[in-house]
Amino acid sequence: MRKHFRAIRALLLIITFTAIRLPFVQAQTNSIVATDKNPPLPAGLDKRFLDTTADPCIDFARYACGNFSKYYPIPEDRSSYDVAAVVSAHMEYTLHSLLEKASADDHLRTPNEQKIGDFYASCMDVDAIQAVGLKPLQPELDRIAALKDKSELTDLLAHYQMITVNAFFVLYEQQDFKDARKQIAVADEGGLGLFERDYYLNASDASEKIRKQYTQHITNILKLLGESDTRALDDAQKIVQLETRLARSSLPVTSRMDPNQVYHLTSVSRMGELIPEIAWTRLFERTGTPQLTELNVVNPAFFQGLSALLGATDLETIKTYLRWRLVASVPSYVLPAAFDDEQFNFYGRQLRGQPEQRVRWKRCTEATADEFDQALGEVYVKAYFPPASKSKTVQMVKDVEDAMDKELDTLPWMSIETRSKAKVKLRLIADKVGYPDRWKDYSSLKILRGDPLGNAMRKNEFDNRNNYAKIGQPVDRGEWIISPLVVDAHYSSSLNVMNFPAGILQPPFFDPQSTDAENFGMLGGIVGHELTHGFDDGGRQFDGNGNLSDWWTAQDAKNFAVMTDCEEKEYSGFTAVDDVKVNGKLTLSENTADNGGMRLAYGALQTDARRKGIDLNAKDDSGFTPVQQFFVSYGQGWCGSNRPEEIRVQVQTNPHSPFEFRINGVVQNMPEFGQAFGCKTGQPMMLSNACRVW
Ligand SMILES: [Zn+2]
Repeated sequence: MRKHFRAIRALLLIITFTAIRLPFVQAQTNSIVATDKNPPLPAGLDKRFLDTTADPCIDFARYACGNFSKYYPIPEDRSSYDVAAVVSAHMEYTLHSLLEKASADDHLRTPNEQKIGDFYASCMDVDAIQAVGLKPLQPELDRIAALKDKSELTDLLAHYQMITVNAFFVLYEQQDFKDARKQIAVADEGGLGLFERDYYLNASDASEKIRKQYTQHITNILKLLGESDTRALDDAQKIVQLETRLARSSLPVTSRMDPNQVYHLTSVSRMGELIPEIAWTRLFERTGTPQLTELNVVNPAFFQGLSALLGATDLETIKTYLRWRLVASVPSYVLPAAFDDEQFNFYGRQLRGQPEQRVRWKRCTEATADEFDQALGEVYVKAYFPPASKSKTVQMVKDVEDAMDKELDTLPWMSIETRSKAKVKLRLIADKVGYPDRWKDYSSLKILRGDPLGNAMRKNEFDNRNNYAKIGQPVDRGEWIISPLVVDAHYSSSLNVMNFPAGILQPPFFDPQSTDAENFGMLGGIVGHELTHGFDDGGRQFDGNGNLSDWWTAQDAKNFAVMTDCEEKEYSGFTAVDDVKVNGKLTLSENTADNGGMRLAYGALQTDARRKGIDLNAKDDSGFTPVQQFFVSYGQGWCGSNRPEEIRVQVQTNPHSPFEFRINGVVQNMPEFGQAFGCKTGQPMMLSNACRVW
């Protein structure tokens, strides 16, 4: 679970389509749904979900999705369930079967199949893991024990950067906010077992309780490492004190969302002044980055605080802390059951309220998919995403971009000078569809069957060496930083890249068997949604090359606010549950993207129909016209149900509106919907005062 620390931090500026931007704590837990059976994929337009007793002009969400939960009830262990969650759950079974096949040695395997197959099989072999115990970790533990002086810390911490042990701080690479062509080194806060500062500093009873449980957890781990009861408790308390000091110098989560607060370009010599306890030049040599002269120090105050802390803490306490961080940084599935259970008891059960550990095959599938997204991705694509699907989806993305280009010509609220800048930015967007043009080369990485800990460490070293090698090099905009296997879509401002992984290019979102209208209703809407993010009040902060620079005039900003005000009022009028209304302000930017996205998808559908000579208003065998299919498919992309408690939480925290309003909020603003379904102006789904930004 610590594995993605760097990735998540580097992705702060990425806007996702389905998921709320979660703090680090929760980011990895919700990625895969716990269901006991493999749920079948819905169709692009799934007639089973239709509630034909509902009038589409009065409540379109009910019409499109009224029967969804009959076929996909909320699983026991979930608080909500929707189409994207169904696809994610299905994907897990798909990947599992590919891994089972790759791990069987009854056929000649490709080098990548050997790697994913043996990595997975090693993870699954709990008997071997149990038998070997802590032996594989012993050399690392010995290395800590051998420390004689704090001056020896530099080499050890350099080694920890390479094998991803999160102790004190982390070093990674990042695109330079101020010069988007460059990749620079970053020294960031780290070393906390409780993810972020508020856990250590909040005075609430709940936080107090977590800190008690956390102290107990560290005590238990130290006992498993061989310490006596009293010493383990004493050491755990010292560790929590030490981490609390680190937390005090760390930035609040909200500050980390602001690019200006996490950017401090600093010379290496200045770094040495901030924290002389670490020999930075030597550390950079050891991590393969000797050429460094400057780097982004995310939070200089943190390193000053760390300097004071290292000076004031005795070597024995530092060594205990390092042993704790070492064990906590290793994936718990490679450790004996007592460690694994203890980790789950705290991080799963106590922190997240997860009642049971997920079954082994799901954990190992997820771990392999995370570590080898491109090796498993290549195998997946070969089996499930043929070249014809790639060319078709690439064309769809282009069609939506062309619709945006046309839209910009007539957009009333954008000034002429801003419009031309928007067009430049649009032309510079790089589309990443399905999978990378060049797959990552894993050939120098050794994966051995029966060596799960060694596999995990070698993989970390492989990743870190590759990442550090990018420092000082120009940004490779062709590189995929998102797994091709995820069921999601992204727009990244600092790369000006849209990303539609193969994971989301499967039914119902995209299906080569579906009609074009259905595909544009689902995937087209998603593409449009992401695209508008590059041009809204978030996207305005970055230019087409990804540099942090505002390209709007003050008047554009004013006009945009007037235009979006209509949507804010519209969505604030929706009742989410009982007396709880949707928060129109919180959800404004996502609602605007939903509305704009469908408008662009509609434009793209028209171009596509003209090109192919399709009459969009003639019914086909389905009993629907293509325009109707377009809207029903869009609606069905958002079929889902929430438990009432979940809606209450969501309305307060999630920048996306609840499912039903992502559907109704959009169609009631599109007169084309009302026309397609024969609605009368003034009916709920055909507003007389419809809102329109894009
Ligand atoms: Zn969005």
